[in-house]
Amino acid sequence: MPRLVVRYRLTAIPGPDGQRSEPGSGTAEPPERLVSFRQGEFRQPFRPSLYLAFNPNIDYHDSGDIEPSLLWDMAPGGVDKASHVPTWLRGRHEEMVCDQENRTTMSLDSTNIPIAGQVFSHRYLQHNPGFLQIATPNSPVGPWVDPDLHPSNHRLVMRTQQLVDLSGLGGRLTEFTPRMATDDEILAYHSESYLDRVRALDAAGGGEAGDGALLGPGSLEIARLAAGGVMAAVDAVMAGPVRRVFANVRPPGHHAMRDRGMGYCILGNVALAALHARRTHGLSRVLVLDWDVHHGNGTQDAFYGDPGVLFVSVHQDDHYPAGWGAAGDVGEGEGTGFTVNLPLPAGSGNATYRAAFDRVILPIIAEYAPELIIVSAGQDASVRDSNGRMYLLVDSYRWLTQAVIEAAETSAGGRLVIAQEGGYSESYSPYCTFAIIATLAGETDLIVDPIAARGHARNTTSTVVNAAAEEALASIENVQREYWSMLRG
Ligand SMILES: [Zn+2]
Repeated sequence: MPRLVVRYRLTAIPGPDGQRSEPGSGTAEPPERLVSFRQGEFRQPFRPSLYLAFNPNIDYHDSGDIEPSLLWDMAPGGVDKASHVPTWLRGRHEEMVCDQENRTTMSLDSTNIPIAGQVFSHRYLQHNPGFLQIATPNSPVGPWVDPDLHPSNHRLVMRTQQLVDLSGLGGRLTEFTPRMATDDEILAYHSESYLDRVRALDAAGGGEAGDGALLGPGSLEIARLAAGGVMAAVDAVMAGPVRRVFANVRPPGHHAMRDRGMGYCILGNVALAALHARRTHGLSRVLVLDWDVHHGNGTQDAFYGDPGVLFVSVHQDDHYPAGWGAAGDVGEGEGTGFTVNLPLPAGSGNATYRAAFDRVILPIIAEYAPELIIVSAGQDASVRDSNGRMYLLVDSYRWLTQAVIEAAETSAGGRLVIAQEGGYSESYSPYCTFAIIATLAGETDLIVDPIAARGHARNTTSTVVNAAAEEALASIENVQREYWSMLRG
């Protein structure tokens, strides 16, 4: 008979030894056993926070964690021999709840339990990169043209949050509180000298930590909270029952290099979260998919020689940052083939993105079979963005999100983290981001696309793969065929 291993969710209930249990603790089992359990058919959460996993090698009578009679109550159909998962979990229609206090069972209304969550903090709105001046100081007009807010200002994340709150979507999400990334976690990627420099800038009240990576007062603490927010999202999907979490964080992170900030990014939020997933949760195959319109040079750099993280970036060709993201940049050493770049020509829209996903990205994800998917989600490939020239619409982001949900369900037990990167249209980006979060929660029609509603979306760039895009896709396929057998068929 299998041993019953009890694992506690969140922090609410005392463990069998009277200690309070944290996520990921409360069991002596190695993490991979829990991972392999969650990769089974465990789909439905059950309250109040008791998780069960079966070790097929040990008699459950030895565990002492839970009364045998309760085991029988909770596993009326026995245990599936192939997956070591109780039959009642596989069936999903006999969900039961174990009440830790009363040791009783009760039926579960699974319809009210969120499968999606969100990380957000109002502190994120306080990172202030200052103003954008239109004229350079040396121009005839000097600095006197009325300054605009910096493109990476607080309003994008704030407006997304307002849509979430005002639409009622927030009620369908489990809230997770971000924490600050520690020095040790940051130094897993960034250099000590860089962290020292950012510290010094922060102490001075702000400054530039690298090309366009601006700090205002308190920005280091907020950047720690952004990196720690994506890590908290990883912890949440690893602990379950929430399987998909959107991290509505700022400042963004995917341009940040090991030894310098870049492109509005101070810390490599997603790179650090992928490293955290590996170090803390023992994962060996993490997929980072970057659909920001700019190439995710920092994340690529973090894992260029590393086969343990597959980095896939789809971005506008010949754009920021210069010299990065060519189709032929495929990784190096042991990491060769584990960097996949899809530079698409400016003007690419929904049809081209779909073709890129159907023909290249989704087959590669299927072959790699990641244990966790983290998306660097910049909505600056939208039709209205000031910093990109692509033609994606709200509905495109819905489709992209659904595609990665299905990919995560196939190989990663549904574990999916989507982290906010760029996206600069104040009137449109928040709708795209909202569509992503709504799709994670299984909602489709809460808010109408403000462009499509007025018929402004009728543009052939959205519906046709033009000759330039086809040429780009063909050359990307040509490069990737060498590394991925699913592209050879
Ligand atoms: Zn971007």
